[in-house]
Amino acid sequence: MKVFKFGGASVNSVERIKNLAAILQHYPHEKLLIVISAMGKTTNALEKVTEAFYAGKKEDALQLFEQVKQQHLSTAKYLLVTHYLACEAQLRDFFTEVEWLLHDKPVRDYDYYYDQVVCAGELLSTAIVSAYLNEAGIFNQWMDVRDIFRTDDDFRDANIDWTFTQTAVSNIVVPALQQHRIVLTQGFIGATDENESTTLGREGSDYSAAVFANMLDAESQTIWKDVESVMNADPKKFPEAQPIAELNYNEVIEMAYYGAQVIHPKTIKPLQNKGIPLYVKCFLDPSLAGTVIHNKPVHNLPPVIVLKEKQVMLKLTSKDFSFVGEHHVGQLYSQFEKLHLKPNLTQNGAISFVCVLDDWAEKVEKLAFEASSIFDVELMKGLSLLTVRHYTKEVFEKLTEGKIILLRQQTPETIQLLLQ
Ligand code: ASP
Ligand code: MG
Repeated sequence: MKVFKFGGASVNSVERIKNLAAILQHYPHEKLLIVISAMGKTTNALEKVTEAFYAGKKEDALQLFEQVKQQHLSTAKYLLVTHYLACEAQLRDFFTEVEWLLHDKPVRDYDYYYDQVVCAGELLSTAIVSAYLNEAGIFNQWMDVRDIFRTDDDFRDANIDWTFTQTAVSNIVVPALQQHRIVLTQGFIGATDENESTTLGREGSDYSAAVFANMLDAESQTIWKDVESVMNADPKKFPEAQPIAELNYNEVIEMAYYGAQVIHPKTIKPLQNKGIPLYVKCFLDPSLAGTVIHNKPVHNLPPVIVLKEKQVMLKLTSKDFSFVGEHHVGQLYSQFEKLHLKPNLTQNGAISFVCVLDDWAEKVEKLAFEASSIFDVELMKGLSLLTVRHYTKEVFEKLTEGKIILLRQQTPETIQLLLQ
């Protein structure tokens, strides 16, 4: 069996959903577990609903949610004839779940409410797509993934209880796949042992699909995207970006680590652990080859370029000319942990320590403030961090032309430059 994941852009209109059905027609005999995201920008819209609710603006929250409702109802109406009423009833159950909550006053953490509201996006989209496929003769079993994916209660960043979830996959999903050719469910969401909904972090559906692939011992996972394949750079920033036909897990995990927005970084481990290949394919043109990611060595990769903008450099210098040793660095790292900050680059000198971070102003200021008790602190904003794997002299020269290099770190494989 195979695992397919379709992202929000692949289901954001009636035409796109019909296109999804057309793609599935190419796989008439495969057993498929299909994971689908919320439609288009629904997750963002539901975030706004939660914000309004938590700010005590109940009427605004209800009104914003009404827009989400109408969008889904009208999509369902366009797509469905015989299955409309049953689907509408299912949608209304999900609406009620959210509205019920929106009528309350917030008494718990923001993140708790976020998950209870935001999870509706995937439930609504999968209900509609499942009904449409059934009506079109592509029979499938819809499943509420919250009955399968058990997580802890770290809302908005929940961690999967691997043992419980594996048992649920074996007891519920495996038999369902024996009975039905296709099982269709949600990515990104799960539930605690108290039946509270949880989410796994933005863009987490790739990861959900990988967890299913791992637990079902799938022969492959395919992520259907609106790009032709994985590219060696972001084509929006580098027009000369070129497609990469073949990659390995190691390369992808490095790319994700340096900030390439290819695939959700957590996706790779469950696949790598079982040697399951990952295909990235274009839902706009399935005839394109796309990219395959596997465990084997890949040679002759082009330079892989990752540019992170809006970076800040924090330069910490010891106040009394004492060395910056384990003790200082240890203290700094516990601050990183406390503030959920991840330095993108660090460099230790005799009496100084430099770190480069995403510019989350509030957190960076807190960090600078805490550090100022032991260090003199200098802060520089508006920088970019350029990482090139498999760099060549030509690429290096081209990318740094006319730029001031503030910091450079280099291994035989990877070069990182902080640019002004
Ligand atoms: N719908 C969620 C998001 O937009 C999860 C996903 O699409 O992966 O972040
Ligand atoms: Mg998405």
